[in-house]
Amino acid sequence: MSNKREFRIAVFGGDGIGEEVMGPCLRVLDEVTTIVGGFSLKYERYEAGATFYRKTGVALPEETYNKASKADAILLGAMGMPNIRYPDGREISPQLDLRERLELYAGVRPVRTFPGLTVPLADPRAKDLDFVLVRECTEGLFYSRSQVDLEDDHVARDTMVISRLGAERLFDFAFRLARKRKANGYRGRVTCVDKANVLGSFVFFRKIFYERARQFPDIVADWSYVDAMALNLIQRPWDFDVIVTENIFGDILSDLGAGLMGGLGMAPSADIGDDHAVFQPCHGSAPDIAGTGRANPTAMFLSSVMMLDWLSERHGLMALAEAADLLDNSITRAFADGTLVPYEFGGTAGTEEITETVIKGLHPHCARNNG
Ligand code: NAD
Repeated sequence: MSNKREFRIAVFGGDGIGEEVMGPCLRVLDEVTTIVGGFSLKYERYEAGATFYRKTGVALPEETYNKASKADAILLGAMGMPNIRYPDGREISPQLDLRERLELYAGVRPVRTFPGLTVPLADPRAKDLDFVLVRECTEGLFYSRSQVDLEDDHVARDTMVISRLGAERLFDFAFRLARKRKANGYRGRVTCVDKANVLGSFVFFRKIFYERARQFPDIVADWSYVDAMALNLIQRPWDFDVIVTENIFGDILSDLGAGLMGGLGMAPSADIGDDHAVFQPCHGSAPDIAGTGRANPTAMFLSSVMMLDWLSERHGLMALAEAADLLDNSITRAFADGTLVPYEFGGTAGTEEITETVIKGLHPHCARNNG
């Protein structure tokens, strides 16, 4: 807890639609901050990412990293472009460097559907999803991403790392999250997703899961193999509460989760560690729609809601939680009557229209968004 009222936010627009959703997000945040009062956000804009690498030969300057790591929180649009790569062929991904260097071990990806928007599954229960995927973000199969073991031109090996420290802190985070959700009426259940039938590293992962589960007797702990979970998330996604998994499994399943919501433009995320956090949509730079005005900024807005909530909890400042609620409600109401339909849902609402509607909805006198 602190008496802090002014918060430094490091802002990386990044590449492609990352920049296009970040501007609107800062407008929305400015509006909600003015309405609620009691705190201020001071943005520090930084350049990093693929386009920046093409210009300068550096993806994330050390000085920028140092400054951003001293901010109270980091907001990020998206980074990476498929056609801009390091000489070894890998893409430019400073967002992954931030996760690893700042030890942001818990990638929190809520999967929540919004009334008024269509969902891809026909079962009526799929209209009302609300679960959270927690993705480990500092090790797993991504651990060796910068040190592929190449044997001439014949064999390539990537090594997966599961450490006791990495797994324990991940599982504790997931159980604490389930406990918090249980207090708000959710099931109080954590499902560990792994491949413990085949890989020894996942046998170890599962063992630590059940060790940590003993510290949370009020929470139900169960598990699923990742292949079965891909099936479960299509056949009965409404059955889950908190799902916790390794880095690359989480990467893949969180896009599946975004699909259940109707599109990546609705899927927010927070990468959280003990001392730092980065808030960014699940989506990438979407080069296929960059520059068209069609990007859905909602995932970016919802990520900033998660930032306000995280700052509120960390600093014990209720005004930040009020701002998070106000913004979240405005986003929910914006879509509720079914007339604001983003392009990715087959509609005609682009970045600007969605932003304007959410901003109007922040004002209590707005008829449409009060409805
Ligand atoms: P992507 O998430 O950029 O796009 C996948 C599909 O979803 C595209 O059809 C795109 O148009 C659509 N989409 C994504 N966000 C949208 C939004 N807000 N509104 C409407 N439609 C949206 O994934 P990709 O095409 O595989 O990757 C593009 C680049 O982004 C790659 O260079 C990749 O490495 C990078 N990437 C970065 C991050 C990140 O910064 N965290 C995450 C994923 C991908």
